[in-house]
Amino acid sequence: MALESALAAAAAALRGATSVIIGSHVEPDGDAVGSTLGLASALTLAGIDAGVVLASGGGCPSTYAFLPGSDRYRDPDGFEAPDVFVSLDSPALHRLGRAEPLARSARTLVVIDHHPDASADGDINVLDPEAAATGCLVWRLLPHLGVTADRVTADCLYAALLTDTGRFSYGNTTPETLRTAADLVDAGAHPHEIYAAIYETRSGGAQLLLGRTLERIALANGGQIAYAWIDGNDFAETGARPEEAENLIEYVRALGGVRAVFLAKANGGTVRVSLRAKDETDVGAIARGFGGGGHRAAAGFTWEGTLTGLLEALLPALPGGAR
Ligand code: AMP
Ligand code: MN
Ligand code: MN
Repeated sequence: MALESALAAAAAALRGATSVIIGSHVEPDGDAVGSTLGLASALTLAGIDAGVVLASGGGCPSTYAFLPGSDRYRDPDGFEAPDVFVSLDSPALHRLGRAEPLARSARTLVVIDHHPDASADGDINVLDPEAAATGCLVWRLLPHLGVTADRVTADCLYAALLTDTGRFSYGNTTPETLRTAADLVDAGAHPHEIYAAIYETRSGGAQLLLGRTLERIALANGGQIAYAWIDGNDFAETGARPEEAENLIEYVRALGGVRAVFLAKANGGTVRVSLRAKDETDVGAIARGFGGGGHRAAAGFTWEGTLTGLLEALLPALPGGAR
């Protein structure tokens, strides 16, 4: 019930707002894009005008540019302090990147998130770690806004749900998740078209990058861990775009017999690490130990240093690595 009252408070703040900006986390994934565009679309239905920003400025990542409304993203620098800022799918304000000052300067900050480590920084916090995607929480906000989803809203929220459940394959794929998906399809979402646009329109360069990633899969910690790495050269030589690396971790994860996997993306002097657990291992806690965060089964962090240094520090912290 607490969640429903938080949703009601968020809707009331939005209905009374003189200006609204919606933002999400850096390196936006399908939930970040789908939930921001889905909420923007729902607010349009409710007669509320909203600005939509990405944490790094710039436009929509190419993977999600097919979504209706993807041309709505504006640079955070172009906005004054809003009446209401809505932070979606971002467990901490610093994850909002260049949009963080807008969130901090808003008269009312609304945080809507499903990360278990979400920090309740908002004046109104709609937090539910049981939700499979932040897009599901936006879906639940719609009745409070007094609107019925149209196709545009449904498509965006379906994309959020599809991607954050790993195409309905992760442990967060519950009966409720599938019911929400069915409701979104009833509301006009296009499951086949959205699947094809996200997973079956990869560039030739992205396929070559996938090939390199698969070739580099290595076992560690007595076979309990599998990992792979890619670096700037791989992008330059294959022609893959940075956002086309989003799903590579799923192919590392596909290997049987391991307890957890990671993908290290080296760039300049830093390494972006994605972790996935295949059993009860809490990779979110491990990522937090390295200054990052995430869910039990899916988490990440950024390592300041070399790939070799990362392996020396990370492998002992993972299953089978205790010294
Ligand atoms: P990724 O591996 O980038 O797909 O991220 C997996 C999950 O971990 C997502 O829920 C992210 O929001 C979260 N995450 C990744 N990196 C960080 C970080 N540096 N700090 C907090 N959460 C993160
Ligand atoms: Mn996300
Ligand atoms: Mn999410």
